[in-house]
Amino acid sequence: MEKNNIIFGPINSRRFGMSLGIDLSPAFKQCNFDCLYCELAPAATVDKQNDVLEVQTIIDELKKHLNDKIDVITLTANGEPTLYPKLDKLINEIDKIKAQTETLILTNSANLVNESTFNSLLKLDQVKLSLDAVSDDIFKKIDRPYSNINIDKVVEKVIEFSKIYKGKLFIEILFVHGLNDTKDEVKRLNKVLLELEHIQRVDLGSIDRPPAYPVVGISYKELHDISLMFDASLPIHIASRIHAEPNNSYYSNEEIINTLDKRPLTKDDIDLLFDDETKIRLEKLIESEKLVKKTVGNLEFYIPENNLKRKRQK
Ligand code: SF4
Repeated sequence: MEKNNIIFGPINSRRFGMSLGIDLSPAFKQCNFDCLYCELAPAATVDKQNDVLEVQTIIDELKKHLNDKIDVITLTANGEPTLYPKLDKLINEIDKIKAQTETLILTNSANLVNESTFNSLLKLDQVKLSLDAVSDDIFKKIDRPYSNINIDKVVEKVIEFSKIYKGKLFIEILFVHGLNDTKDEVKRLNKVLLELEHIQRVDLGSIDRPPAYPVVGISYKELHDISLMFDASLPIHIASRIHAEPNNSYYSNEEIINTLDKRPLTKDDIDLLFDDETKIRLEKLIESEKLVKKTVGNLEFYIPENNLKRKRQK
C-alpha cells in the first residue's frame, strides 16, 4: 500500500484551525454511506474495511509531519474513518505523541451504534458528527446507507454521545435541494438538536464540490433562511461558502440588529449577505458598541450587545 498519501496537509481550516489530516483509506473509497453529494465517486457501501492500514505505518508517517504549529490531527478517510478496525489502538498511539495538538474525527455518525466505536470516539479531543436527516426516507435518499443502518438508532446514539462526551462536539448538516431542505425536516432536525448537550457549533452547509450524483445544493440565502428556522439557542453557523453567491442585500440598522440577534454571523457571512452600504453602517454599530464580537471555537461572530446580557432559554 502507498504510504505517501496517508498524511495530507496541513490545511488551514477556518473551522478547526491548522489541521494535519490522516486518511484511513488512502487507496480507495470504503464507506458505509454512498451520499448523493459525496465528492468521491459513487461506490457500493461496505460495513467494514477490506483494505486495512497498520497502526505503526500511520504513526511512522504522522511522526514525519507532526510539529507544534498543528492545531488538530484530523482522522478522516476516502470514506468513513470509523470503519477502520484499529481505530482505538490508533487513537491510543496518537495520544502518546500528540503533546498539545488535539485530535479530531469527521464521521457520518452511523457507527456510533457500535459500542467500541462509541467508546473510542469518547477519547478524542474533538468530534464532528454529520446528521443530514432524521426521517428514515430522507436519510435513505440522501445518504444511501448500508442496508442495516437505522437512522432512529443513530439519532439515539448521537444524543447519548452528546451527553457523555467531554471534548468539543460539532454537528454538521449538509442540505441538498429538494430533499432535506423542507420545513418539516428542518423542524425534525431542530427537535433532535435541542436534545443534544454540550454542542460547540452546528455547521450548516450545502454542496461545495462536484457531487457523485446529479443533485444540486441550495444558495447561501436559502441556507440563511433555514438557519433562522432553528431555535435561537442553538449555536448555528453557516459553513458553506466556497461557491456561495453573494446576496448583497440592503438591511436597515434595525434589521441588522434583529438579524444578528436571531442568528449571530461571522465576517464572511456578512460579506455575503449585506451590501456595501449596510456593511458601512454595521461598522458604525460596532464602533458605537451596539454590536460586539464573540469568539466561539475558531470563529468570530458579530452579536448585539443586548443579546449577550440576555439569558437565552433552550
Ligand atoms: S459519508 Fe462521506 S465519504 Fe461516505 S459517501 Fe457520504 S460524503 Fe462520501
